[in-house]
Amino acid sequence: MLEVKDLAVSYGRVQAVKGISFTVEQGQIVSLLGTNGAGKTTTLRTISGLLRPTSGEVLFEGKRIDTVPAHQIVTLGIAHSPEGRRLFPRMSVEDNLLLGAYTRRDAAGIREDLDRAYALFPVLGERRGQAAGLFSGGEQQMLAIARAMMSRPRLLMLDEPSMGLSPIMTTTIMNTIAELKASGTTILLVEQNAQAALALSDRGYVLEVGAITLSDTGAALLEDDRVRRTYLGVD
Ligand code: ATP
Repeated sequence: MLEVKDLAVSYGRVQAVKGISFTVEQGQIVSLLGTNGAGKTTTLRTISGLLRPTSGEVLFEGKRIDTVPAHQIVTLGIAHSPEGRRLFPRMSVEDNLLLGAYTRRDAAGIREDLDRAYALFPVLGERRGQAAGLFSGGEQQMLAIARAMMSRPRLLMLDEPSMGLSPIMTTTIMNTIAELKASGTTILLVEQNAQAALALSDRGYVLEVGAITLSDTGAALLEDDRVRRTYLGVD
């Protein structure tokens, strides 16, 4: 579904991503792991069209998208829930969700999707008129995921959905990601919490200073000594 080929991305003279290749097959959850500054966010922002690669290609469903503007990439079926959530704190839950549907004109379908979001996250439905900034970190993360789902993406990219969350809330979010997969959404996940991410993932890629150093199934990476030492804190 998504094919990233020899992708390189720079900020001025700083090369943040140094020629990486990976694929995401339809129906999978794929994780990008790596320490701070490895290039994970840069990779997602490039797939979204927010950054342009200096070389390499991004193909979505067989078509090159690395020169397509970000708003068109959303209409092609890719949604991005960014790091730090980027909600509008003074706007209501419902208005934040509606912003996620800004590329759509089908009012009835949008209403259906709002109802689906409220069914998935009852707390959002019960407090739909309240300002997003009044919600807990975990609830705001739910809202960020729900907002990304409002464009009806076939590929959902999530940047650090467990950031700042308690272990219980992290489990809730991970269970939600598994449910989204079960309902047919393909997911590209960036996570610091390697344990939680790999447990869900069909495949994982480890990024170190802009290069992929390891890739395998989620299950195999959970057992890998290098991953266990560096990312799972196991001796
Ligand atoms: P984190 O988990 O800390 O967000 P990351 O793996 O997502 O890390 P990136 O945010 O992609 O990493 O950053 C990759 C590299 O690019 C880092 O060295 C970072 O300092 C640099 N970088 C990121 N954004 C910019 C920018 N706007 N200008 C210059 N350098 C940047």
